[in-house]
Amino acid sequence: MERIPPVAASDSYPSVQQEVARLAGLPEVRAAFDRFRSQESQFALWQMEATRVAAPPFGEAARGAWLADRFRDLGLVDVQVDEVGNVFGVRPGYGRRFVALSAHIDTVFPATTPLHIRQQGSRLYGPGVADNGAGIAAMLAVASVLAGARISHALPFVFIGNVGEEGEGDLRGMRHVFATPGWRDAIAYSLIVDGAGADTVVAEALGSRRFEVILRGPGGHSWSDFGAPNPIIALSRAIEGFSQTPVPATPKTTFNVGVIRGGTSVNSIPESASMRVDLRSTSMVEIDRLEHALRLALGQAVAAEDRAAAQRAIRKPQVLQSEVVEIGNRPAGELAKDARLLKVIRAVDAQLGNTAQVQRASTDANIPLSLGREAIAIGAGGSGGGAHTLQEWFDCHGRDLGLKRILLTMLTLSGAGE
Ligand SMILES: [Zn+2]
Repeated sequence: MERIPPVAASDSYPSVQQEVARLAGLPEVRAAFDRFRSQESQFALWQMEATRVAAPPFGEAARGAWLADRFRDLGLVDVQVDEVGNVFGVRPGYGRRFVALSAHIDTVFPATTPLHIRQQGSRLYGPGVADNGAGIAAMLAVASVLAGARISHALPFVFIGNVGEEGEGDLRGMRHVFATPGWRDAIAYSLIVDGAGADTVVAEALGSRRFEVILRGPGGHSWSDFGAPNPIIALSRAIEGFSQTPVPATPKTTFNVGVIRGGTSVNSIPESASMRVDLRSTSMVEIDRLEHALRLALGQAVAAEDRAAAQRAIRKPQVLQSEVVEIGNRPAGELAKDARLLKVIRAVDAQLGNTAQVQRASTDANIPLSLGREAIAIGAGGSGGGAHTLQEWFDCHGRDLGLKRILLTMLTLSGAGE
């Protein structure tokens, strides 16, 4: 995440600020805020329970079923799981469009990862406990406090536990929500809860494109077939060439070769070699330029290895085949500076005495933002660290600030207590 100027106090939006202050002063809202504190132990239990159900990429069904049961327990209506595994629950209102509160339910961890989730004091430990156990807990906390309150809101709320945010999931859950006619046009605002904290507003979607590059050759014995083109050598040349591509500091643009694979034994000419490449930028133009550079470096590396093979070969020279498979494509986009959602979250932060910075990142918000919809990603409160490692932790202290921030934003967007 890259820091850009802090969110200013919201003096320029007096009407939104007054509305937020009015809502925050309602007795029912204040009672809800108190419950965010008094029910903390329940939220921590839900968070640990959710995190103990494995949810690897493309394997979120069990956690989704668990979440659907909690949605029903909390009195949400129209609880359903769609064909990709997204879980929906509705709290009815009076309008036709929805304020969506979503949290991704998938993790980066493979199904075999031991999920030893434990609590020590205010801290929870274990893989996925903050990213996105905290988001799931926040969604349940808001739904449960609303279930026990007499807070009326105009626009209905839809709670969504979506699949496929991490890595190769490639935002497939959110992509599907916004490809479904019933939801695409019905969701007016998307509030996405991802990870811990209350000090950020992701309103700019960092774009990325990911590739698996595969080189294939005839392979053979290292001694008797010497001369055959070697995919590992060609892949190494491609990495060497591509990694010299200059990238601008602004717009920030990055590349990574994250995985390489290939070969079977030390005395075999490999039949294949592959790598996974990640390209990122806030500018789609830069991503296109990097993709072009990658393909160029690959073409040159393959040609060089084919030429070398032709010189070495005793028999008829053989050539390499290359394949570039796109394994990820997250569109870039940003929230308009005058978007209502941005005014509301700024006013909510001012009301709660919270300081937050607008950031750019790659989150579920990329999908609605790339479609020109109002969306932000924020944290679930508390604090956390070690995301995507087995040492991940979440500290519940200060969770209530994040929850108040979410609830007040939803109520303001919805038009509440009218
Ligand atoms: Zn996450």
